[in-house]
Amino acid sequence: MAFLENEVMIERINALKKQLDAVILAHNYELAEIQEIADYTGDSLELSIRATQISARTILFCGVTFMAETAKVLSPDKMVLIPDLQAGCTMANMADAETLRALKEKHPGAMVVTYVNSTAEVKALSDICVTSANAEKIVRQLPGDQEIIFVPDMNLGQNVINSTGRKMILWDGFCPVHRRITNEEIKRRKQEYPDAIVLAHPECNPSIAPLVDEFLSTGGICNYVKNSSHDKFIIVTEMGIFHRLQKENPDKTFIVGSPQAICPYMKLIRLEDVLRCLEKQQYQIELPADLIEKAARPIRKMLELSK
Ligand code: SF4
Repeated sequence: MAFLENEVMIERINALKKQLDAVILAHNYELAEIQEIADYTGDSLELSIRATQISARTILFCGVTFMAETAKVLSPDKMVLIPDLQAGCTMANMADAETLRALKEKHPGAMVVTYVNSTAEVKALSDICVTSANAEKIVRQLPGDQEIIFVPDMNLGQNVINSTGRKMILWDGFCPVHRRITNEEIKRRKQEYPDAIVLAHPECNPSIAPLVDEFLSTGGICNYVKNSSHDKFIIVTEMGIFHRLQKENPDKTFIVGSPQAICPYMKLIRLEDVLRCLEKQQYQIELPADLIEKAARPIRKMLELSK
C-alpha cells in the first residue's frame, strides 16, 4: 500500500465500513489511533456483550484472535474480520484441549471455569467462561462443594481464591505482560504519589495485593475512575488503557504502574491494517459449526450469570 496520510486512511475506512455494513470493536489495550476509529472500545466482557447486540453484518475486531473468535462464536452468521492473524495471546496459547481433556478425566466431577483468554477448542471443553470483570461474581454463584478447575490464568484464579475463599485447581498459565510487573515498581510509585489510588488488573501477580486498592478489569478501571472523587491513580495494567482514561478524564492524573507492561500483540494492528482488512475482507474468522455450538454454551452461560 502506498503511503497514505492518516486522514485519508480514516476517510476510506469510514466509506468501506458503510459499504460493508461493518462495525469496529477495539480492546482497551489497542493503539490510540485504533481506539479512535473504533465504534466501541471496551474490555473482553463489554465487547462480548456488544458483539451480541450489533445488527451490522460485519464485525471488524481490533484485538487478539481469541476475542475475534468469541465474537464469531456469539454471532456465527456475521462476517468477523481481524486485520492481523499474528495478534495472538501468549496466555491463551498456554492451554490446549488435549491437556485439559486429561485433567478433566482426573477430576470427573469438576466444573471447568475458563477465562475468555483461551482458544475456542478450550472453551468448547468448559462448563462456563469468565472474564476479569466477572470471574469473582460467577465463582461465588457456583455451589459451595463444587470442585472447580480454573483455566488458564493462575494469577486471576489465585486472586479469585483470595477474594472468595473457594478452593480451585489452577492451570499454570499466565500473562507475561502482567507477570513482568514487580512489587518494587509499585512500591516506588506509591512512595512518589502517596495520595494516589492503586488500581490493578487481576492478571497481575497476587503478591501485589497488599499494595493495591482494587483489582479490576480494564472496563472496571475506567468505570471506577469516572465515578471516583479522587483525582490521582496509579494504573497497574497494560499501557494501552491510558489513552481511554486520559480522554474520558482530562482533569485527572494517571501514573504508569509499570512502563514495561506493553503487550506486543495488542500493538500489531495499525490504521493501514484496518484499511487493508476492509478492502480485502481479510482475515475472516472461520470456525467449524460444531465447535461454534460447543464454545457458545459456556460463553452464553457466563453472559447470563453476569447480568
Ligand atoms: S496482555 Fe497478556 S493476556 Fe492480554 S492479550 Fe496480551 S498476552 Fe494475552
